[in-house]
Amino acid sequence: MRDPALPTATEPAPQGGVAVQLRGVTKRYRSGAAALGPLDLAVGRGEFVSLLGPSGCGKSTALRLIAGLAQPSGGTVELAAHPAARRGEHAIGFVFQEPTLMPWSSVRGNVALPLQLAHAGRAEIAARVDDALARVGLRDAAEALPRQLSGGMKMRVSLARALVTDPDILLMDEPFAALDEITRFRLNDDLLTLWRELRKTVVFVTHSVFEAVYLSQRVIVMTPKPGRIAAEFRVSAEEPRGAAFRSSAAYAARCREVSDALARATEPA
Ligand code: ADP
Ligand code: MG
Repeated sequence: MRDPALPTATEPAPQGGVAVQLRGVTKRYRSGAAALGPLDLAVGRGEFVSLLGPSGCGKSTALRLIAGLAQPSGGTVELAAHPAARRGEHAIGFVFQEPTLMPWSSVRGNVALPLQLAHAGRAEIAARVDDALARVGLRDAAEALPRQLSGGMKMRVSLARALVTDPDILLMDEPFAALDEITRFRLNDDLLTLWRELRKTVVFVTHSVFEAVYLSQRVIVMTPKPGRIAAEFRVSAEEPRGAAFRSSAAYAARCREVSDALARATEPA
């Protein structure tokens, strides 16, 4: 299943070091049983990792713990220190499944929000917002209101808002799950282009085997209740992602392997 020579969830070996390190992380919500863990996971700097698992297996919980939006019941979550010049609050960009845009504010206003909250100057905000909008292909939609946008465009706004602070780590929680397939494929490709250009560390949550395999360098399959790591797979970095990869035998074979592991992970004991 896993090539023993390759790095594992607990010890990745990318040259750039480790960006995110979870050690023995557990989460128990007050109202219920254990939701997550213990989870040991290390994500390399610049790596694209997907967490794959059925609904309720703790994927969102894991992302929230990494983001510091929730505290673990046990264990530790560490993020690598960022360059001294950077402000700590800019270390993470979060893209939620819902675009969660302010309906009364333009695309530009929505993307500017994190910088305004950080009290950035007007000129800096204008430059950064323009750059983020250009990167997600929304240069011409800057003055539009959210209700004038398609679902895919709203998600692009949400992505621009996450990128505008130039975070080291991008956390994405089923961002494309509600989109039609064509739009989703296009966003998948655009996200990969962004990742290649910007070299962010990405932790991407999905319940789609096909999406996880298409996007990721590493796919982590999780078990439900509590969410733990059942298996992990590497997808060769040499394979250029695109239409040819989507219809390749290698992609189909990888999807089948991951799909089987997911089925085993979710079987009732
Ligand atoms: P996923 O994102 O994989 O669907 P979640 O992380 O949202 O899973 O949830 C994992 C488990 O924790 C589920 O059983 C869910 O019901 C529970 N859970 C999530 N958030 C809360 C919360 N705020 N309070 C109580 N239980 C929660
Ligand atoms: Mg979730």
